[in-house]
Amino acid sequence: MWMGCCITNLPDAAPLFGPQPEFKVTSILSLPGFIKKDLSAALQFLRILQPYLRLMSEPYDYIIIGSGFGGSVAALRLAEKGYRVAVIEQGRRYRPRDFPRTNFNLRKFLWMPRLGLYGIQAMTLLKDVFIFHGTGVGGGSLVYAGNLLVPPDEVFEDPAWQGGNWKAKLAPHFKTARRMLGAAPHEVITPADELLRECAADIGKGDTFHLNDVGIYFGEEGETVPDPFFDGQGPDRTGCTLCGGCMVGCREGA
Ligand SMILES: Cc1cc2nc3c(=O)[nH]c(=O)nc-3n(C[C@H](O)[C@H](O)[C@H](O)COP(=O)(O)OP(=O)(O)OC[C@H]3O[C@@H](n4cnc5c(N)ncnc54)[C@H](O)[C@@H]3O)c2cc1C
Ligand code: SF4
Repeated sequence: MWMGCCITNLPDAAPLFGPQPEFKVTSILSLPGFIKKDLSAALQFLRILQPYLRLMSEPYDYIIIGSGFGGSVAALRLAEKGYRVAVIEQGRRYRPRDFPRTNFNLRKFLWMPRLGLYGIQAMTLLKDVFIFHGTGVGGGSLVYAGNLLVPPDEVFEDPAWQGGNWKAKLAPHFKTARRMLGAAPHEVITPADELLRECAADIGKGDTFHLNDVGIYFGEEGETVPDPFFDGQGPDRTGCTLCGGCMVGCREGA
């Protein structure tokens, strides 16, 4: 069947990072509207299918399912060792401006594909446990609260962790993780923190109140700078504005 159409910007495959390629139909000669509409839908379908076709046609040493904290780190380390690695992610890719302003924006916040919701927050009910987890390129990092805790001594003193000198063994890895995640001290005490402190005091645990380190860039508030963490190889960052939106996705790029 002849079709007078011309497609530009046909990508090899959707890259995991960076801007998303898009198909653009630059001209469709004299086709009725419903055909143009179907063609556009077919092209969208091809766009989704293309990385999978490529996955099937090229050999990879490792295929990692999920691009969250675990998957992305595994992919990076394997690629650094020279392996060919593919990462498959079910959710979409987000730029800071794509995140919802509030979690009432269910379409962008919740992940419930059966209801047509493709946001960042998934919820899975299993027999004995209800799991909140993130979805999208970056997994839980899109929606998490950014707290980066190194377990205190009492965790390693627990019988479950006895026998392997785990504190010493894990110390260098916590150091790497903190560097990779840009752990920084949070120094602002908000009214919500004050409430938490009061509650802790009420139950006799006031001495445990402290500020956590967080994976947030605290530069000049609202000022965007070239990647401050990895010598410019990562994305630009904007100084945290303390907007409090971390758990709907940081729209500032902090
Ligand atoms: C609201 C919230 C706040 C949190 N706050 C903190 C915090 O402050 N500090 C902290 O340390 N932790 C926090 N966490 C927990 C943290 O986000 C998780 O521990 C972490 O994301 C787990 O990493 P992961 O790689 O195991 O899985 P995830 O980060 O969940 O990544 C799994 C990825 O796999 C993808 N996937 C799953 N199935 C498939 C499939 N079949 N095909 C393709 N892709 C698939 C998912 O879409 C997802 O992107 C928080 C979590 C939530 C939900
Ligand atoms: S700018 Fe807002 S959403 Fe981003 S890290 Fe700071 S408080 Fe969280």
